[in-house]
Amino acid sequence: MRWSFPIARLTGIQIRLHLTFFIFLGWIGLSHGREGGWAGALGGLSLVGLVFSCILLHELGHAWAARCFGIATPDITLTPIGGVARLERIPERPIEEIIVALAGPLVSALLALGFGLACGFEFQAVEGEVQGWSGMVASLFSINTALLAFNLLPVFPMDGGRVLRALLAMWLSYERATTIAAAIGQTLAVFLGLAALLVPAPVLLFIAVFVFLGAGSESAQVRVREAARGLRVGDAMVTSFVRLPAQAALADASHLLLHAAQHTFPLMDEDGGLVGILDRNSLIAGLQEAGPAGRALDYARRELPFVEPTLLLTQAFGLMERTGSPALAVVNGRGDLVGLCTQESLSELLSLPKQGA
Ligand SMILES: [Zn+2]
Repeated sequence: MRWSFPIARLTGIQIRLHLTFFIFLGWIGLSHGREGGWAGALGGLSLVGLVFSCILLHELGHAWAARCFGIATPDITLTPIGGVARLERIPERPIEEIIVALAGPLVSALLALGFGLACGFEFQAVEGEVQGWSGMVASLFSINTALLAFNLLPVFPMDGGRVLRALLAMWLSYERATTIAAAIGQTLAVFLGLAALLVPAPVLLFIAVFVFLGAGSESAQVRVREAARGLRVGDAMVTSFVRLPAQAALADASHLLLHAAQHTFPLMDEDGGLVGILDRNSLIAGLQEAGPAGRALDYARRELPFVEPTLLLTQAFGLMERTGSPALAVVNGRGDLVGLCTQESLSELLSLPKQGA
């Protein structure tokens, strides 16, 4: 997720904070400070910190359950409307997806139970000033209960929606199940959004938009993955491209971009070994910083994932996702560069009608 930066690493999972989180912090600090002065602002901010720890634990619940099925979670991003655990892949079997989807709400339920026992199950309005420790505990009880209830709504891509998708996938194809779950999610999001406009409740409106966009992008991802099923890197790689020498200038790459529509530029040393790959975005960044005379290698990505043409495309997607690399270098058995597998080449292939079986 863009606009976020790393704050910590927990059991191999990068924890990231979304930039909007700071706007939210400022808003909470100001609104609580107006009512209760510095003490009020501090109380509000500590509550936010504690709520985020609860959301983080919820996401870690998903991540740890996924780990039981051998699925890594490269990162968890915390945003003002909740967390997003980015799993390396979606569990293959529906029952595994159900367990992973329910692990987060289970954590929230345990937290709600714990805080509930501590405060005598007394609900506390979330807005307004927090009154001392007992008020804080009551707020945490209320928020975790709300989080639990909200996440269990059958609105894809929220946890309840994932359970719904997995249940549908027991009878239907994965793609069909996702399309139906996403359509239900988007329909409910529209109603939620309308209700939020009428109340008006800005946070609810944010959530509705998040659900609507999330459902759309996830069902698109599933369609791409289904289309790629059974295909190999060799089917999608670009084989005709110009190689640049390692000492090439950025101008050489921009010349290729403009005259040959090449978007990814491999840089080779004298022995024909690949030393880095410059992509379009890094080229533009380099041109802005160093101008056309700048060295291409300074802006190229050095550690590239090397793959063989026989690798399954679905695995190639996973590798690109995991490493954040814009391209994969395809090498033959002798280690010579034979092709490039880029986001563009993948989407070109998948836009064509499927050949054969
Ligand atoms: Zn969750």
